[in-house]
Amino acid sequence: MNQATVLAQVARSFADRPALSLGTEPLCDYAGFADRVARLAGGLRDLGLRDGDRVALVMKNCPAFWESLYAIWHAGFAAVPVNAKLHPKEHAFILENSGSRVCLATPELAAALAAIRGELPSLNHLLATDGPDYAALGAGKPAPLAETRPTDLAWLFYTSGTTGRPKGAMLSHRNLNSMVMNYFGDVDTVLPDDSIVHAAPMSHGSGLYGLPHVAKAANTVVPVSGGFDVAETLALIERWPGTSFFFAPTMVTRLITAPNIDRADLANLKTIVYGGAPMYLEDVKRALALLGPKLVQIYGQGEAPMTITGLPKHIFTDTDHPRYEARIGSTGFPRTDVEVRVVDERGAEMPVGEPGEVICRGDVVMEGYWNNPEATASALRDGWLWTGDVGTFDADGFLTLKDRSKDVIISGGTNIYPREVEEVLLRHPAVLEAAVIGRAHPDWGEEVVAFVRPHPGRTVAQEELDALCLDNIARFKRPKAYLLVDDLPKNNYGKILKTELRKLAAPATD
Ligand code: AMP
Repeated sequence: MNQATVLAQVARSFADRPALSLGTEPLCDYAGFADRVARLAGGLRDLGLRDGDRVALVMKNCPAFWESLYAIWHAGFAAVPVNAKLHPKEHAFILENSGSRVCLATPELAAALAAIRGELPSLNHLLATDGPDYAALGAGKPAPLAETRPTDLAWLFYTSGTTGRPKGAMLSHRNLNSMVMNYFGDVDTVLPDDSIVHAAPMSHGSGLYGLPHVAKAANTVVPVSGGFDVAETLALIERWPGTSFFFAPTMVTRLITAPNIDRADLANLKTIVYGGAPMYLEDVKRALALLGPKLVQIYGQGEAPMTITGLPKHIFTDTDHPRYEARIGSTGFPRTDVEVRVVDERGAEMPVGEPGEVICRGDVVMEGYWNNPEATASALRDGWLWTGDVGTFDADGFLTLKDRSKDVIISGGTNIYPREVEEVLLRHPAVLEAAVIGRAHPDWGEEVVAFVRPHPGRTVAQEELDALCLDNIARFKRPKAYLLVDDLPKNNYGKILKTELRKLAAPATD
């Protein structure tokens, strides 16, 4: 099922329900939204694209994202939503890697891409959402709904790989449909009176969870700030009934530690789905006490959106359960339609309580990585997705994640892959070795710390390393500290021992 078909059907049954809002103001109803989508789809087809061509969305959170996304599917193309916070060079890499022929971008990001247009030979059209070409896209006749197959690419989801370069997880229409149905099956109900407020990036989890809300004719609300501002978030909860969110755990923490949160009017708050990184038990308890039983936790990855396991609301309210605390500190149990196992490196199941790699199988699992057969072969084996996460099952089938096997740093809910930063640092002629790790941080979960070993007899200024990072990677990936060392701890195979580095970097405790 193509989600554009879902929209077309919903728009017939719930034509006058609010579909899209900016802040506190409704922009259009479902009839208007579906009509706009069909016209934009016509405009995209007129650009000369062929079935399955990729259209990139390089956008800050804005209403245009939603009409463009559904128009791409309506026209039979594949969307490539790109994280707006990345560096323009990273945007360029994703645009070229995906072979996107059209890029729709919000004004500032479009200007940044225009400045490096020479690095984008595959791109035929770069359209700013405030420009006349974008306006012209929607000015023609509505296009008919394209025929798509369940396995056709719908959303090319770029996750950063441990090899340092982002990889495109190919999500098909079947994958997205399975995610949508799972929301109703295991996460929450959605009614036409409900709203989803997109305070987290729509190129990722919040956008994916926008789909079940459109499928049930709920109101899609984009904050005017385009992001997460606590005061604005609280005002939007007051304004819109049945409000749901997808939050990174750090956003939950920021919300519950906001001044006057205990006096906020939260009557409209329906659900906060959180996931993407661990959340401390104390924070979960505090959130439950302040917000009421509104939490749902999910554990998933871009390769298996949005969930592999989850904790629905009824587990959070089952306070008399003898293992209540262990349960709400876990990542929950498998979603209804996915098989989940914890295995050793040969794929044999581990006994209860023993750690192993989490693998899963089902319609949720991606088709593979875009143009990357080696990475696909390593992640997808005999139909199982190897997640790279280490976890344990308890006797009741609740999964607890132990560690991230690939040393991923999660800062502010966003994954940062050390290798990517290390590779940039190693470009400095005075740097012999570099190792990047995460250090616990009270607000962000983790912060990036770099250990740098200069060539013998040389030194390197922190400012130079910082400038190098600013020039090549997104600001949020740049190390917050550079520690110059004479040597790096290594094991017998010459591999750098990051566990030792984490201890060295740990904040001093009295
Ligand atoms: P991404 O593909 O960017 O969504 O990142 C997925 C990774 O985030 C997973 O492989 C896990 O390592 C981590 N993750 C996702 N959800 C959770 C969760 N609920 N608790 C702990 N870690 C999580």
